[in-house]
Amino acid sequence: MPQDRLAILGGTPVRTRPWPKWPRADQETERVLLQVLHSGRWALSGAYAGETCFERRFAAAFAEYHGVPYCTPTTSGSASLTLAMLALNVGPGDEVLVPALTWVACASSVLAIGAVPVPVDIDEENLAMSPAAAKAAITDRTRAIMLVHPFCTVAAIESFVELSRTAKIPLIEDCSQAHGAAWKQQRVGTFGDVGCFSMQQSKVLTSGEGGACITRSRELSERIEQLRSDGRLFSTATPRTGRLELSEVGAVQGRNLCLSEFQAALLLDRLQHLDSENEYRAARALTLGRLLQDVRGVTPLSAPADLTSRTYYNIVFRIDRDQFAGHTIDTIARALADELNTNVNPVYRPMNRHPLYQPLKAPRGDLSEPEWQRRDISRFATPVAEKVRANYLTLTHPVLLEDDASMEDISRAFAKVRTLAPELRELVVDAAAARQAF
Ligand SMILES: *Cc1c(COP(=O)(O)O)cnc(C)c1O
Repeated sequence: MPQDRLAILGGTPVRTRPWPKWPRADQETERVLLQVLHSGRWALSGAYAGETCFERRFAAAFAEYHGVPYCTPTTSGSASLTLAMLALNVGPGDEVLVPALTWVACASSVLAIGAVPVPVDIDEENLAMSPAAAKAAITDRTRAIMLVHPFCTVAAIESFVELSRTAKIPLIEDCSQAHGAAWKQQRVGTFGDVGCFSMQQSKVLTSGEGGACITRSRELSERIEQLRSDGRLFSTATPRTGRLELSEVGAVQGRNLCLSEFQAALLLDRLQHLDSENEYRAARALTLGRLLQDVRGVTPLSAPADLTSRTYYNIVFRIDRDQFAGHTIDTIARALADELNTNVNPVYRPMNRHPLYQPLKAPRGDLSEPEWQRRDISRFATPVAEKVRANYLTLTHPVLLEDDASMEDISRAFAKVRTLAPELRELVVDAAAARQAF
């Protein structure tokens, strides 16, 4: 029987059935949101309403989940990175190492405090910042290392702890893609000085927008807490109904980056589901990995044995493009997306040519020409990030909340696109013709 044409060329897609919705909510989620609605307290800076506010309850639960004493929720992942850097005294002109391949927020949050992001190439085995490249990138102006645990694995955390210790440069772990992941049974975010999280809608723990910083250091925690609530700290006195719970300390210059009570209530509720959802996704990813052993040219990113709890934000595959008629990764991703009726994307553009990293379009103030040019990172070469951009694809985590039969849809889609890849030439020819028509 001849196989159908590719969906992108008008054939029947492998799957039309919708994928699971994300984010998830149930009756309990609804209940806590209504509880906040009617409580009269919508912000931690609102008056005490007779019980511990959700922001404090989530902070305590998230700290306990990680086995650390302190957590400060905040408005976003970007805000958590900003707070971590400010608490660590990173200031204007200081250099911060960031991975060459990650979401733009890592570089833009550095830029936003007047500091200079330095892109560091990645290792292909885990798509995370390379410890060797990081060591080579350190200068006498380096003030922090911003390490991301990307996609569905964890960076070489032990090497970075060692590097941070010997070079005396603080380590910030950006765990926005790894909520709940553990290395040798220890959760990520607890190895460095501060662990940062995003709870934006796409993440595996979410309140729409949100974030958090965790730390073992009381001093850092008190700085972060004040930095995010205009210099105020929760008072240690017994709260009184109708009165504010914050006391004005001003040991640092703060501003307002507080999570609202609605968001904190959402996070406290959904945190209860994080482990079971992580386990469910990991089990589906195993099934998918087994199925893909029969599809030449598609290799899921493997994980080291020390990654004792593997979590999936995006599941990543290396594509041998020769097995796909040599097409570009973007073309292959588009064809797969149409077969599967979901997002299939290449990985990020390397930071030194990321379309959303535009430092020279920010207000310049009175920066001198050399200072201004330091922010332009196009001079850095990050060849591994370039190679990974050209050969890797991702699927987002909600597809892993489906059943095992749906994993067959994914492997069938890969197999179909691989077999019929020569047809994709029509698409490329069409696109060229369309460009000529203009
Ligand atoms: C999502 C993300 C961020 C930014 O988080 P926001 O909540 O959108 O500000 C930062 N770093 C990484 C690695 C992310 O994935």
